[in-house]
Amino acid sequence: MSQNVAIVTGASRGIGRAIAKSLANKDYIVIANYNKSEKEAVELKNEFNNIDIFKADVSKRDDVKSLVEYTLNKYGKIDVLVNNAGIDNEKLFQDITDEDWQNVINTNLYSVFCVTQEVVNNMIHNKSGCIINISSIYAIQGGPFAVAYTASKAGIDGITKSLAKELGPSNIRVNSIAPGCIDTDMNKYLSKEDLDNIKNETPLQKIGRPEDIAKCVNWLVEDEFTTGQVISINGGWSI
Ligand code: NAP
Repeated sequence: MSQNVAIVTGASRGIGRAIAKSLANKDYIVIANYNKSEKEAVELKNEFNNIDIFKADVSKRDDVKSLVEYTLNKYGKIDVLVNNAGIDNEKLFQDITDEDWQNVINTNLYSVFCVTQEVVNNMIHNKSGCIINISSIYAIQGGPFAVAYTASKAGIDGITKSLAKELGPSNIRVNSIAPGCIDTDMNKYLSKEDLDNIKNETPLQKIGRPEDIAKCVNWLVEDEFTTGQVISINGGWSI
């Protein structure tokens, strides 16, 4: 049987990087997408024989087409797509500009539409596929100073549910993972007090690690009967 092939968007840092590593450890060929963090991406590639890297801004259709064409020309198929790339934008609602809004929606939500659309014909042809969208706890319960971000993530969960219905008959599973607070660059702006408050509101009393999300991805790629779900990995913060 030929090796499984996965694309992970935004794999240069944080959660995407941990997902790329854990799929590589499962013997997947991983195409780790990056945009700005070339140095980190090259380091990742140098760690694994089965990780390939590709620069693409996933909010741009031409870049996305290049990423998918590169993957299909070199590896012939795509078994798993992890739509992970994302940005945050912490602002008071009244201060969000049109440019902020479009930047967050294009990077977080349009990218999921665009990458999935470019990938899905190959999965339909193969009658097999697993698509995992990285959402957020904010899509479930909202969050302060994060209206654009929350809207983008709630949109992702909408894509997940509708696409799961549309693609189920083609044996393609589509799920979201909604992380709680995970220790990555995205949360660097949080003070120790902020982090302590989050821990206190979390039954498991801790901040998550990127590997906690990667473990759920590892499970979803193996699973055969889960689709259209939003899986909360947040230490119980959303209870
Ligand atoms: P991070 O450490 O800031 O990493 C973000 C990743 O996304 C980087 O690899 C970055 O690549 C990539 N990226 C951003 N814009 C991109 C673009 N236009 N094209 C391609 N790649 C792009 O953030 P993270 O915490 O790992 O977040 C990963 C995902 O988890 C995001 O979707 C985020 O919303 C979600 N999430 C995170 C948390 C959390 O607490 N950390 C909680 C809930 C959900 P470059 O640096 O190469 O540009």
